[in-house]
Amino acid sequence: MSEMFSIKLPDGSVREVERGTSPADVAAAIGPGLAKAALAARVNGELRDLARPFEEDSELALITARDEADALELARHDYAHVLAEAAQNLFPGTQITFGPATEDGFYYDFAPPADRGPFTEEDLPVIEEEMRRIIRANTPLVREEWDREKVRDFFVAQGENFKAEWVMELPEDETISMYRTGEWVDLCRGPHLPSTGRLDPDAFKLTRVSGAYWRGDQNNPQLSRIYGTGWLNKKQLEAHLVRLEEAARRDHRKIGQEMDLFHLQPEAHGSIFWHANGYIIWRQLEAYMRRRLDSAGYREVKTPQLMDARQWEASGHWGKYRENMFVVPDEIPNPEEEGPVLSGDSELMALKPMNCPAHILIFRQGIKSYRDLPIRLAEFGCCHRNEPHGALHGILRVRQFTQDDAHIFCRQDQIVEETRRFCDLLDSIYRDLGFANYAIKLALRPEKRHGSEETWDRAEQDLRDAVQLAGRATADYQWDELPGEGAFYSPKLEFHLTDAIGRTWQCGTLQLDYVMPERLGAFYIGEDGEKHTPVMLHRAILGTFERFLGILIEHHAGRFPLWLAPVQAAVATIVSDADDYAREVVQTLEAAGLRVEADLRNEKINYKVREHSLAHTPYLLVVGKREAEERNVALRPLGADARQEVIGLDALVERLRAEALPPDLRA
Ligand SMILES: [Zn+2]
Ligand SMILES: [Zn+2]
Repeated sequence: MSEMFSIKLPDGSVREVERGTSPADVAAAIGPGLAKAALAARVNGELRDLARPFEEDSELALITARDEADALELARHDYAHVLAEAAQNLFPGTQITFGPATEDGFYYDFAPPADRGPFTEEDLPVIEEEMRRIIRANTPLVREEWDREKVRDFFVAQGENFKAEWVMELPEDETISMYRTGEWVDLCRGPHLPSTGRLDPDAFKLTRVSGAYWRGDQNNPQLSRIYGTGWLNKKQLEAHLVRLEEAARRDHRKIGQEMDLFHLQPEAHGSIFWHANGYIIWRQLEAYMRRRLDSAGYREVKTPQLMDARQWEASGHWGKYRENMFVVPDEIPNPEEEGPVLSGDSELMALKPMNCPAHILIFRQGIKSYRDLPIRLAEFGCCHRNEPHGALHGILRVRQFTQDDAHIFCRQDQIVEETRRFCDLLDSIYRDLGFANYAIKLALRPEKRHGSEETWDRAEQDLRDAVQLAGRATADYQWDELPGEGAFYSPKLEFHLTDAIGRTWQCGTLQLDYVMPERLGAFYIGEDGEKHTPVMLHRAILGTFERFLGILIEHHAGRFPLWLAPVQAAVATIVSDADDYAREVVQTLEAAGLRVEADLRNEKINYKVREHSLAHTPYLLVVGKREAEERNVALRPLGADARQEVIGLDALVERLRAEALPPDLRA
């Protein structure tokens, strides 16, 4: 059967090719340079193997290393295959399961033979060496189509139970592709690079091992996962390793310990023990936020921690959110040794996972008129959410957290103005806190949701319009829409800030909600004398104090601006003759509202300098006999390149007091 397809290239030119022609053939016909550089193809928008023949008239774009996102994705998936082949070559009896590309590399989940146990870090260098051998052998990666029973029989014969189980669950009409690297075969959707030699043997590194469950389910067999990072060339890998080192140096858990800020322990999984130093930073940040909210027309409230299940039923949380709630029986526990502690048949209550329903209950107290709106209720609300232990991470992902939460109840015609005001407030706060660079995203309706399609259409469009009018959806700000990522009761705006080493964090949100106020019977009397449901804007700027403080710690690498630093200065003596004067310096600074420590220990000054710089104390004030006589201090800022400067005590007080002012209180 002879048949021709027309293949349209990105420059608009069209080539007529015979059935059986592949993108690789087209690349070769264009020129040997392109044939060598091509890694894969986009055929009618779908990423495919270079050697896979066209099936119809197609639009073709050849992918080279210049298409970095696609090239990285392909390379990482290839690295995963090479890893699996290497592990099976070295450790016969190891079963393969799955190995996808990740954000910076790849992983593969294995079932090692029972007599061997899970992989360890010690196994990684030898596996890396075998991977390099496979890459250098430059074996083609070939796509084959098999039918289901053949795939199953093949894997059963190989003792690969996981793959055999999986293939039988694929939809019957799905074309099943197997990828062959020489003798080695894996069930895989592809696509892949044309051969293993297209990978750079010096552009990957196996990074760690961990446990995982087959299909992510704890009831299934445990697997051994090997992670790697993979790139297109050695230079990219090295840059990534430097970034990782930088991130490790800034890790909030490490700095939290160095500065004695907080700790975590299993007796309170996911809840933080804030030490005095850490809580100083919290209190500074909270006081700052309180001043900003007060002057922006918010009214602060405090609502109950525990509420009846009936209330959560009414708000919809019981149905859609119960798996994340801590449920508590409304019962006095049995104090006797015998018998169950709890009867199991009392009414249920739950710790609040959100503050919203309680704020509606406050709104509902007393009749509201259209003239009373907007009403902005703020709460530093402590919430609990039942996250699985494995999902917790330092103070960034916790189970007990405090949101800088607020709900704005307003009329339809006030949405735009309230959103604009919120965007301005958030912008100003982010700048004050050192995050001038952030992106705005609009998250649209998710699959699991409350409310009619019409309501969602309106809510989404309102937010779009509001941000446009607020002047934030411009070229200065990165603006994006995220389908499917809204909350179950509303679409939302997300604010993603960028930290000092280029990582992004979603912190601020604004959710436009028509549903919950109606569900919970909130209303106001309109100009027409009728009852109307207010619109509710759920909004936060920091997100949670816990996570935001974690981000701040990593952003500053512990070197906080003076207004946030737990200890702002340490007065260190060179000789004991200066002790009295050092105490006087401390008292004078404390009287000026500064947080100061005295270090009168009988230690060498270099030792003291080193210790206080490890604790990230912004200023060291060195005093000796001469400083005491002349009523000066030698001021030494934190940092290796810091220059010491002799300054009079009065001038020092003025200078530190001015620098320690929170950003909103400066002139
Ligand atoms: Zn694969
Ligand atoms: Zn809310």
